[in-house]
Amino acid sequence: MSASTLRKVEVYRSLPRYLATRVLSTTLPALSSTPAAPLRLVHGPGPRLPGPRWGRVRPRLSGICGSDLSTVGGTSSLYFSPLVSLPFTPGHEIVGDLLDDVDDLSVGTRVVLDPLLTCVPRGLDPCAACRDGACGRCDRITVGHLAPGLQTGFCADTGGGWSEGLVAHRSQLHPVPDDLPDERAVLVEPLACAIHTALRLAPKAGEDVLVVGAGAVGLFTVLALRAFTLAGRITVVAKHPRQKDLARRFGATDLLDPQEAIAGLRRSTRAMRLQPEQGSPYLLGGVAAAVDCVGTRSALDTALRATRAGGRVVLSGMPPSGVDLSPVWFRELEVVGSYATGLERVNGDRARSSFSLAMELAREAPLDDVTQSGYPLERWREALEHAGDAGRLGTVKVHFDVRENS
Ligand SMILES: [Zn+2]
Repeated sequence: MSASTLRKVEVYRSLPRYLATRVLSTTLPALSSTPAAPLRLVHGPGPRLPGPRWGRVRPRLSGICGSDLSTVGGTSSLYFSPLVSLPFTPGHEIVGDLLDDVDDLSVGTRVVLDPLLTCVPRGLDPCAACRDGACGRCDRITVGHLAPGLQTGFCADTGGGWSEGLVAHRSQLHPVPDDLPDERAVLVEPLACAIHTALRLAPKAGEDVLVVGAGAVGLFTVLALRAFTLAGRITVVAKHPRQKDLARRFGATDLLDPQEAIAGLRRSTRAMRLQPEQGSPYLLGGVAAAVDCVGTRSALDTALRATRAGGRVVLSGMPPSGVDLSPVWFRELEVVGSYATGLERVNGDRARSSFSLAMELAREAPLDDVTQSGYPLERWREALEHAGDAGRLGTVKVHFDVRENS
């Protein structure tokens, strides 16, 4: 790869620093759909192999994730700034072809990528979290022989999915069965994250669950809750008609518009609704467990205000700031994060990786028209605009299709 040049979309400047140079607030709305973002398509050498047990991967399809849009659009928290290195090529939802022999995997193997850049890919002895299989909790994501980067797609040394080439460590590679088409294989990483979320939520048999949001994260969480938990009623808060159709297809029992969520949940859970002097109404009573799959203030607010005392709320989207935590204190809610993937235990079975469970879900779930919109790399602006407005446009997943130019 280093001998030839390849094309890659690249984030070349720090977003916050870039924004600071642009005082006009009128540029901000446009930035969320990225025309002004410090992103560019470049032709250049591919990343070099960082060490043994690494190989080159040529992406076929590479998804656009909400966390990519937040990072590229400059709306993610500055908390994450030390966890990336510039310039980087985004893209961590990847199906591609291996271009080198890597241990037991031979050239030409079709693979999906576990993007976490933890102890083992960094050439370090595993930390306690990595030893336990909870690699999302690794503390060493800024050290070792790679530049800082919590995942492939945020690291200057590995390349990322929005390109014609990246490098990956053997521990990141999962071979794809021949009968799993690319359009489903590219969903394995987001499905693995959704499975992790469903098992962090861990509803008991028959419990009422609330899923706020019906973009890809919310929809896949519904699928995972149905496949791997015994949740009872699953209520989904969704804005758009196609999201509601898909949520129902994936196992939701109740669909509510955002503005009617609290009223609808009051009825279905027979809770009491209170209206504070300011802010949104809330329930005394409510669902046993809720998950915010959007990452906006209003979505998390709904999750906190609709969960019964002693219940559990999972943060799946990148969390917003400025949320009123009164219900957490007063209702003694358990609020937990769900980041990436790990080793999962389903109903007391032996532990399995989220990716191995996701490979099965990708094959069996009714996902046929979920990966619809593929863009070549040179149309990256259009692709990001589409992804930023996917819900309204009736799209679940937008991806780059790098096959077209091969
Ligand atoms: Zn570690």
